[in-house]
Amino acid sequence: MRVHERLESQVRGYCRSFPTIFTTAKGAQLFDWKGRRYIDFLCGAGSLNYGHNNPEIKEAVIEYLLSDGILHGLDLATEAKERFLDVFEGLILKPRNLEYKIQFTGPTGANAVEAAFKLVRKATGRRNIISFTNGFHGVTLGALAATGNSYYRRAAATTLGETTFMPYDGYFGPDFNTLEYIRKVLTDGSSGVDLPAAFIVETVQGEGGLNAASAGWLRGLQALGRELGILLIIDDIQAGCGRTGTFFSFEGFGIIPDIVLLSKSLSGYGLPMSVVLIRPDLDIWEPGEHNGTFRGNNLAFVSAAKAIEIYWGDDLFSHEIGKKAEILSDRLAEIIPFDTEAEFEPRGRGLIQGIECAPASIADRVSRAAFERGLIIETSGADSQVIKCLPPLTIEVSILTRGLDILEDSLQAVLTDGSGRQFHAPPPGRPQNSRWVSVPTATEVYSR
Ligand SMILES: *Cc1c(COP(=O)(O)O)cnc(C)c1O
Repeated sequence: MRVHERLESQVRGYCRSFPTIFTTAKGAQLFDWKGRRYIDFLCGAGSLNYGHNNPEIKEAVIEYLLSDGILHGLDLATEAKERFLDVFEGLILKPRNLEYKIQFTGPTGANAVEAAFKLVRKATGRRNIISFTNGFHGVTLGALAATGNSYYRRAAATTLGETTFMPYDGYFGPDFNTLEYIRKVLTDGSSGVDLPAAFIVETVQGEGGLNAASAGWLRGLQALGRELGILLIIDDIQAGCGRTGTFFSFEGFGIIPDIVLLSKSLSGYGLPMSVVLIRPDLDIWEPGEHNGTFRGNNLAFVSAAKAIEIYWGDDLFSHEIGKKAEILSDRLAEIIPFDTEAEFEPRGRGLIQGIECAPASIADRVSRAAFERGLIIETSGADSQVIKCLPPLTIEVSILTRGLDILEDSLQAVLTDGSGRQFHAPPPGRPQNSRWVSVPTATEVYSR
């Protein structure tokens, strides 16, 4: 038995789904100790948007290390931090007409969520926070209280409080506008739901099944919040940093969140780093009121500044992501078979898309079959029912296509179970599977 199984806690997770020992990685590919190559559609759960060991970012990191630059500095002012702030302001905030103060929290996404919750509660004097069905915001107690999944919630083994869950966009299907329900509950003094300090919402639910909220729904949520004095926190930890095609996932949706959370791919190099972007007048913290030893991961400041300079100085990268997203959605539509008992539905947008499977167990079997064939791909959703494609945004089109070939092979293998039968997507214009064809196109959903 390798030391991993003997010594590492039972809590380990991903290494059970992908049982090998990884050694090196480059771009969109991982290599294991036997020299086997895997295409990476897991991407550190969205922490490696610019690929593994991105050469240009690596150069900046090495140069900084060789220069004896400050590595740990609590929240001291450093040149590396100054550089990051300048770049973030100049290339991200200003061109988008966004005005935010930047809080560096502890380096995990969950710590940014905790900080945001403390701040909105302090700012409004209210305790309740509204989160949404299938939302995932991390597993520390405050963030876990806003996370829907009962598997994670049970692990708290204590009370998770001061949150109320509301139905996300589409929770009851396309014909039910959940905003109407939310408005009713929040304007009815006898609904039993305390007026909240804030809404916290993902525009695409990364861990909760790749449900994507429409622009109209998000605008309605913001309008309702403004009417009732409820702040809007967008958790862009997974969907942000370019994952949906724009730096922030809500760009072009006509909303300006009061607070935005970024983490995962922010450092651009898989290094831990998180920020809370705060509407300036809400920045009512006292000095050091929310602190943490690792708020100044200076190496992450260096890599983050470099990543933003390389990729976000103009629109080229955004276009590139858009093109790859189209390849991905077209191919997923082709892969989804109709002539089987099982049912499938496409999910997500940008380069965070997948296939919802019923029965749910298909997704897990496809993930395992894909691993055997050299593709690392995870599942998402309450019942792990969604096959989740999360390739690096920088993936070469040929590798993306190869990964999707493997995905198709794996799905066929699971469905045929060795019977030799082939399943097909319906020919264009001749819809067969009613559930599948009822899904509106991405353009329809996002202009709704
Ligand atoms: C991953 C994630 C978090 C939590 O981040 P950690 O670094 O794992 O604590 C919070 N929100 C969303 C949307 C995430 O995807």
